[in-house]
Amino acid sequence: MKFSDLIKPHIAKQPIYEPGRPIETVARELGLNPKEIIKLASNENPLGASPRGLAAAREALQEVHRYPDGGCWFLLEKLAARHQLGTGQFILGNGSNEVIELLGHTFLNEGDEVVMGTPAFIVYKLVTLLFGAIPVEVPLQNHRHDLAAMRAAVTKRTKMVFLPSPNNPTGTANEAGEILEFARSLPEGVIFVFDEAYAEYLPKPPDLRPLIEEGRLVICLRTFSKIFGLAGFRIGYGYGPEEGIQLLHRARQPFNVNAIAQAAAIGALGDEEFLQRSRTENAAGLVQLEKGIARLSEHHPVEMVPSKGNFVMVRIDDALTCFAALQKAGVICRPLAPYGLTDFLRVSVGTESENERFLDVLEDYFQ
Ligand SMILES: *Cc1c(COP(=O)(O)O)cnc(C)c1O
Repeated sequence: MKFSDLIKPHIAKQPIYEPGRPIETVARELGLNPKEIIKLASNENPLGASPRGLAAAREALQEVHRYPDGGCWFLLEKLAARHQLGTGQFILGNGSNEVIELLGHTFLNEGDEVVMGTPAFIVYKLVTLLFGAIPVEVPLQNHRHDLAAMRAAVTKRTKMVFLPSPNNPTGTANEAGEILEFARSLPEGVIFVFDEAYAEYLPKPPDLRPLIEEGRLVICLRTFSKIFGLAGFRIGYGYGPEEGIQLLHRARQPFNVNAIAQAAAIGALGDEEFLQRSRTENAAGLVQLEKGIARLSEHHPVEMVPSKGNFVMVRIDDALTCFAALQKAGVICRPLAPYGLTDFLRVSVGTESENERFLDVLEDYFQ
């Protein structure tokens, strides 16, 4: 008898997530100096962690022999003040990915349909399959979520709808007005999950609190992994109507968010200066990449999809070959083949010199 004889059938079929490749791994595999590798593969903040977040984390290490505050009390207070909601309207997770999984634990039965765009953040599909539910994938239009088509894909069996804006990997966003209209058009009994992983990069993120006040079944997701620069700590959160959020709390482990991550998040939330600097640098980086790709596109088959996030999707023939060549030259980006996009790479916005290096290496690849 083998373990695989005993596996649940839907787990046997579960696809495996392919993360951005770590610098150390690439260095080891290709015999490169890790110091000479740049990683533009996971939409991390190229400026590093929020300095206030990092200082708070260092301080918290002193008490690491203690269990964390399982209720994340001080962090909940900070978040409640930031969003002007009640502390009972938030749930923290080990990354917002955990909150997505908690949504599955709490609400998805086998056979439930879950509507999502494609290509969109792949974790929606993975979590849907994990619970034996059925992903209903609606193609994007012009790289943007097609809300009319998504609405049309909702049936009596639909339990949940995912909408990320800006979307990963396309970098496109939907307008606040159409998002609210879409959410209000959903039938009774459908949970609307709005993923705001890149909201802080928008000049004015959509405000879904009116939906919460109207008593709609909406859950918003945010993360400390992106603009706050705390990806390694694994911390994110969901917010929405207290009634729904409290159900998610039942499904979580008692200490799902570690003490150091909680402290870092509290520190980072007070770091407006860092957020502002990150936004400014990112906007400049997007322009730099846009100009660089536009220049290359005059002579080479490459183009860039305009982005509202901290990454860009680049169309290029045979993207896997290009990915391998860039990696050999010490630039790690993300091939989008796992999303079915064999002609696209996703490149995170780096520092000015990292962006320059990416553009140079891409130019060399074409020569
Ligand atoms: C990065 C990302 C997340 C956040 O993941 P964490 O688990 O919080 O690190 C969520 N949604 C999207 C669309 C993302 O790109």
